[in-house]
Amino acid sequence: MTTALITHADCLNHVTPEGHPERVARLEHILHALEPLDLKRVTAPMAAEDDILRIHPASYLSDLRKASPVEGWAQIDGDTFMSPGSLDAAFRAAGAVVRGVDMVLGGEVQNAFAAVRPPGHHAETDTAMGFCLFGNAALAAKHALDHHGLSRVAVVDFDVHHGNGTQDLLWDEPRVLVITSQQMPLWPGSGRPDEDGAHGQILNMPLPPGSGRAEMQAAYETQAFPRLRDFKPELIIISAGFDAHQDDPLASLNWATADFAWITAELCKLASELCGGRIVSTLEGGYDLNALAAATRAHVEELMKAPA
Ligand SMILES: [Zn+2]
Repeated sequence: MTTALITHADCLNHVTPEGHPERVARLEHILHALEPLDLKRVTAPMAAEDDILRIHPASYLSDLRKASPVEGWAQIDGDTFMSPGSLDAAFRAAGAVVRGVDMVLGGEVQNAFAAVRPPGHHAETDTAMGFCLFGNAALAAKHALDHHGLSRVAVVDFDVHHGNGTQDLLWDEPRVLVITSQQMPLWPGSGRPDEDGAHGQILNMPLPPGSGRAEMQAAYETQAFPRLRDFKPELIIISAGFDAHQDDPLASLNWATADFAWITAELCKLASELCGGRIVSTLEGGYDLNALAAATRAHVEELMKAPA
């Protein structure tokens, strides 16, 4: 079995203003780092509008279309910008995770990594924010449930920022277990343990600034992994943000590259135990170019080594 790498050149046409951390070079560095690996390379399709509408209202989509600039930038919120190529990039990013779910559930590959931007986990039902336009991870989960007929999907989000968008989009969805670790306090401010979803199906694990491997492993081993075993997902979606890295300029956790390998390997073991190894991972944050490339490569190499 193989690992799919799903991406599209359109994701490089989402251009942000000079100095913006979520920049084209992020994906360029990642693709360069993954170049030597023996992956099944897949071109991301555009997501169908019906897929987007599983998580966002039609009014949100038409607002984004209206906002999409012909040249220069449209500022959607304090730190979220659209360039002329952004909407297509967002449709490719969403299409990549949908294709990943189709391939993994169809048995074409064991797992998949969507190397895409814009990222997704801050996009709420009708609000773009935090560099994100469409909620890719939540969309992947909904597609697996509603299109493929699964009953239980888990989303695990180890980006250093709270996945407020994923939480918002899946707040009332009893078929999805959402597990998210984040530095707290840190933007966007949400992600307390008492934010646990309409059905108690959301697990928030705040981590203190300056913490590293010991705190991260303790949170996952004592809270996240037992919840995954109890829930018995049929598919695991990973919101793979690499900004908990010690070199990241936007946050202050102290994860090393090896810690991203550890969390990925552990999730692969759990996926093997619970759901035939089925994992779809999608890129979220990570803003130090070298740390991002190294941690992403470590993540993908563990996906490639994963037991079936
Ligand atoms: Zn982040």
